[in-house]
Amino acid sequence: MEPRARSRLSVTAAAVLLALTAACTGGTVQGRPGAAGLRDPYFPKAGNGGYQVEHYALDLDYDPADGQLNGTAVITARAEQGLSSFNLDLSGLRVEDVTVQGAAARFNRTGNELTVRPAEDLKKGEVFRTEVDYAGKPKALADPDGSEEGWITTGDGAVGVGEPVGSMTWFPGNHHPSDKATYDITLTVPRGYEAVSNGELRSRSDTGDGRTEFAWHSPEPMASYLATAAVGKYEVTKGRTPSGVAVYNAVAPEEAALSEGPLARLPEMVEWGSGRFGPYPFSTAGAIVLPGGTLAYALETQTKPVYPGAPADEELVLHELAHQWFGNSVSPKSWKDMWLNEGFATYAEWLWAEDHGGHTAQARFEAFLAGDTEVDAEADSDWAAFPPAAPPGPEHISGSPVYQRGAMVLHRIRQEVGDEKFFALLRGWAADHRHGNASTADFTAYAERKTGHDLKKVWDVWLYGEGRPR
Ligand SMILES: [Zn+2]
Repeated sequence: MEPRARSRLSVTAAAVLLALTAACTGGTVQGRPGAAGLRDPYFPKAGNGGYQVEHYALDLDYDPADGQLNGTAVITARAEQGLSSFNLDLSGLRVEDVTVQGAAARFNRTGNELTVRPAEDLKKGEVFRTEVDYAGKPKALADPDGSEEGWITTGDGAVGVGEPVGSMTWFPGNHHPSDKATYDITLTVPRGYEAVSNGELRSRSDTGDGRTEFAWHSPEPMASYLATAAVGKYEVTKGRTPSGVAVYNAVAPEEAALSEGPLARLPEMVEWGSGRFGPYPFSTAGAIVLPGGTLAYALETQTKPVYPGAPADEELVLHELAHQWFGNSVSPKSWKDMWLNEGFATYAEWLWAEDHGGHTAQARFEAFLAGDTEVDAEADSDWAAFPPAAPPGPEHISGSPVYQRGAMVLHRIRQEVGDEKFFALLRGWAADHRHGNASTADFTAYAERKTGHDLKKVWDVWLYGEGRPR
């Protein structure tokens, strides 16, 4: 993470220098509008073209009593083209004021697009600062598959979960996984509430007017769908893994007793994952356990996964932890690459079981072929319904083939290349794409290069093939 942080800084410095040089020549640079979407195959309007965000500073004031959010987002980005205007994704809420480089900017809204027109065009390579003041009562969104995401109220508070596009319900941004940035998320809430977000808690202070401010810092790049903010009456416990990674768990009191068992092994899991996949990619780990019944799924929000009540078992905790390597550090280039998240996290569950006296991955693989639910409760799922690298539509990106058949793809590679090369492949993939983005094509090319094996049949049959492999 450190070398990458330095290279981001040096890119910034070079860009500033370029911008200065351009200013000295005195030439007027004509910008053009940035694209309103990144043409993701399943979510074409997600994200925006013409710039990449380097940093988000979100200052959010939330009152659980009436659900009112008052926010300021300061977005530092680098122009990738001359820009006369650019878009941010934002759903609902009221935009009160926008400035770019300190000067008032015009703006207008259409659907989930906030279009910002700076007073002066931005030059290609220029690093620019946009401040958006906004307010309102954020809401949940319904996904194509019917599940809820975005801003979810939890009885005594609320939580933001954003896979794939729900983060636009609580802050304006470039909401596509291909644009990762560092974050500072500061949450101010009435005294007596906890406010939890990604990364490390820099400070917790009384504001003097009956409220508490929590300043959270994420030094490693994060895709916006992995950002979270949870406000509520949580029990907080802190610890460290044996190798020193800070652990911060925030658990709804009524879920505390049942959460204790599954969360107790988290430090051990971080160490195990570091052995299997390479160094844990972040400086902190932990969990946010919501009051039961407020969400239908767990999400691997960066450094602190969100659980919808006490985790059902330790495999779920392991699954969300495995995403910190696969999905969060190595993020998909598009939502079509979802199996790179879910197939890997599912296979990590198989590996954890294999290493801890459970079924071997081979037994699990055979159980899926045979539909044997004695070995794996999911073995009779419709894992063969479509190829994992080509879900038929956005409503299928969280379908069974993306998880289980994705895991089977990895096991097929292991069968072809043997354990030594296979585990070197997993570690190499996590290391060489650390804190970056990768696509399915990147993975298949990498796997062949790294192992020296021709894996075309595995890709053709298991990854892209229609019909049930045997
Ligand atoms: Zn997952």
